[in-house]
Amino acid sequence: MTRELKRRCVVLMMSLFPAIASFVAVASAQDNAQKFACTKCAEWNVRQLPFRIYGNTYYVGPRGLSSILVSSPHGHVLIDGALAESAPVIADNIRALGFRLNDVKLILSTHVHYDHAGGIAELQKQTGAKVAASPWSAEVLSKSGIGNGDPQFNIIRPIPLVSNVSVLMDGESVSAGGTRLTAHFTPGHTPGATTWTWRSCEGSRCFTVVYADSLAAISQDGFRFTDTSDHSHAIDDFKRSIAFLRKTDCDILLTPHPEVSELWDRLKRREEGAGWRALTNRNACRELADHAEEQLHNRIESERQR
Ligand SMILES: [Zn+2]
Repeated sequence: MTRELKRRCVVLMMSLFPAIASFVAVASAQDNAQKFACTKCAEWNVRQLPFRIYGNTYYVGPRGLSSILVSSPHGHVLIDGALAESAPVIADNIRALGFRLNDVKLILSTHVHYDHAGGIAELQKQTGAKVAASPWSAEVLSKSGIGNGDPQFNIIRPIPLVSNVSVLMDGESVSAGGTRLTAHFTPGHTPGATTWTWRSCEGSRCFTVVYADSLAAISQDGFRFTDTSDHSHAIDDFKRSIAFLRKTDCDILLTPHPEVSELWDRLKRREEGAGWRALTNRNACRELADHAEEQLHNRIESERQR
């Protein structure tokens, strides 16, 4: 190739570069939209009027994804932000209860998947609240949007990033105003999964609320929870988390997907006259632990047969 021909090739490549770059950007945005298409998001994000669960514990999420507000006269704690597109629903629901957004002082999460932590960045902006999470979740929230070691790494969309996330320790209690909650790390569904417990009272009747994170062993194709070379802790993590759920003090069970703990059925019974007794079940956490153990057992068996 002559020097002149080489020069012309370089000029041609340079002139085509912006068009190629924008074509690649559009193509990859389309690929991502297809890759992370969410068939359930519209159904999850259906509006739900906010309501008091018990005492100072309120449901402020859309119908299909829990977002829990724990209030106090001196500031509130919000746990989970559902989808990115749920943030306006949650903000409206907090206001509809008569609370001010800037009285939300702390935002926490169960696990940092797009359907539970997608709205946190926007809610943090609207409230000015601090955000705190387990070390693995804090890294995802503030830096990567999707976590290395996440069993669903390649099949779920990243979450919008949050600036300034404080790191919590297992067993640490956090407070905002007069509200105090305890973090219990329950890894498995993600390595940073966290279950939250607190007390809520109506007069002198107080209950322990357990907002138990997902314990479903779900993954992208090819991921093996039993592969000890890549995920040496995965099965032990699940077993420890299930053991915690089985033994923890538990009166009112809540879950990130409300139907998993039959929230809507319990509320219906409450409205039909059963009162607060419809919400409480001292065996609820144990039953959820049994269900998670059975699911894990089935998953291990299916991985062994593959
Ligand atoms: Zn999840």
